[in-house]
Amino acid sequence: MLSRPLIINMIKRIGPSITLIQLSDIDSNIYVLGDTVIDSGTGFNFTRLHSLLKIMKLNFSAIKQVINTHGHFDHIGGNGYFLKAKIAIHEVDAPILEKADTQASYADFFDGKLKPRQVDQKLKEGQVLQVNGMPLKVLHTPGHTPGHICLYNEKDGTLFSGDLVFSDGVGRTDLPGGDVAELDKSLERISRLKISKILPGHGEPILEKGDKALKAILTAAASPEEDEE
Ligand SMILES: [Zn+2]
Repeated sequence: MLSRPLIINMIKRIGPSITLIQLSDIDSNIYVLGDTVIDSGTGFNFTRLHSLLKIMKLNFSAIKQVINTHGHFDHIGGNGYFLKAKIAIHEVDAPILEKADTQASYADFFDGKLKPRQVDQKLKEGQVLQVNGMPLKVLHTPGHTPGHICLYNEKDGTLFSGDLVFSDGVGRTDLPGGDVAELDKSLERISRLKISKILPGHGEPILEKGDKALKAILTAAASPEEDEE
């Protein structure tokens, strides 16, 4: 078990209403917004997550809503710990949770077990969720998975980008349900938004000038051969 000074580094305050928990390299980022979490990690690091929530004066049953950006195991595997939470995911990826689809969730790759979980809210494009005082608009952004979403706060330009875009690249399309053309369309769509912060599903968040950073990421992704030289 990690000591408190080490474990506390896994908590990052993004702003007054958003905290990021990073459990390990394989877990998705978990964003805590009041009594809502966006993505839940693999579920492999139960004790660690429990300790971190405790440091934040929270526990599993204090979380009333889990919003999943998509149905991959490293983002949904921890849903089962949040027994009091309503589960929200885009309607297209919802069957992955409801049927505990090990193939589409990629659970086998992670050596993970998935139990069926009822989806309480099947999200649709354009729907606005009120989360911890923030209006988060559901942007259906397929490509990484068919039912992938980003959550966008039009007021302040915060974008929860899931696995569509990261601080160092774009989402992969070689997994079940991946589609390059759809991913490109989704990237093109978000590149037209006014973005301040990009809060991705893995790795470090971008905390200012998100739209500028996104342009640089997309330019680099479009000419990968330059990186190799
Ligand atoms: Zn993914």
